[in-house]
Amino acid sequence: MIRRASLTRRQLIAAAPLAGLALAGGATLNRPAAGARAGITVATTVGMITDVVERIGGERLNVKGLMGPGIDPHLYKPSAGDIRLLGDADVIFYGGLHLEGRLVDTLAKIRKSGKAAIPVSESIPEDRLHKADGFGGAHDPHVWFDVSLWSIAAATIGTTLAELFPEHAGAFGAGTERYRAELAALDAYVTERAQRLPAAQRVLVTAHDAFGYFANRYGFEVMGLQGVSTATEAGAGDVQTLAKYITDHRIRAIFVESSVPHATIEAVQQACRANGWDVRIGGELFSDALGQRGTPAGTYIGMVRHNIDTIVTALSGDPATPATRRTATGHERGSRA
Ligand SMILES: [Zn+2]
Repeated sequence: MIRRASLTRRQLIAAAPLAGLALAGGATLNRPAAGARAGITVATTVGMITDVVERIGGERLNVKGLMGPGIDPHLYKPSAGDIRLLGDADVIFYGGLHLEGRLVDTLAKIRKSGKAAIPVSESIPEDRLHKADGFGGAHDPHVWFDVSLWSIAAATIGTTLAELFPEHAGAFGAGTERYRAELAALDAYVTERAQRLPAAQRVLVTAHDAFGYFANRYGFEVMGLQGVSTATEAGAGDVQTLAKYITDHRIRAIFVESSVPHATIEAVQQACRANGWDVRIGGELFSDALGQRGTPAGTYIGMVRHNIDTIVTALSGDPATPATRRTATGHERGSRA
């Protein structure tokens, strides 16, 4: 069984390109029985992980993702069928860092049984993770918004697959390298797009605090109405405080998220209107779930491109009232007005 302590970050990062198949610290994985390897079944949680596993493993894997489009991982409760699916899989990849809040106990039990169940975000070096306000002192689990961090998670997936299924190690290694090269290009794309916005206009207001890593990496200030987990509800006071901030700073657009009910951000829009500021809904962002399969946001790379393009389009242009344009210094992350 792999524990976080044994699947250390250092070697997982060093795993690109996959130098060796041994996992760090002499960790041993319970390999699925040889007979089961004809068809390798991989269970995953969020779509961002499902997509990466499919891209790395190709047709060699039968990937079963639990959470489809529009599903909020913070609130997702496993069905009996999900638990069977997890139990039957040869390996499980999930986000960890308490992203899948209601799956924590189930996954802990499965790991105890010796099955390889890998929290991919927990392979990221701790000094690149950040703590989230109001999340019990835990790390913010939304690491996929920093593409360079998600690339580390992809390396972890590739290394683990190669270790578990050595007969396909060459293919998994090549798949991982290819995919990580695409992620490097994606990271450059997001950086370039973000820089087209003047710093003062890089303010992102969303339904929940999912974009902290995005803010750090690409130079935005972010504010979410709800905290890092949607399990914490926003109060009327939060709506008013955020609306005042948006009005005071003449922020042009705020954003709904595909996995969070739109009513929360629409309430902020209404409150701004009551203040005399007509803020627009700048579009729908894919924060904690991919879009429908076959649509542009149906892959991780497509989701990231959709998000940055939507954000830059909605926030660009001259600020409505130059006299009140604020001077943005620093990128105060995760603050709430
Ligand atoms: Zn979230």
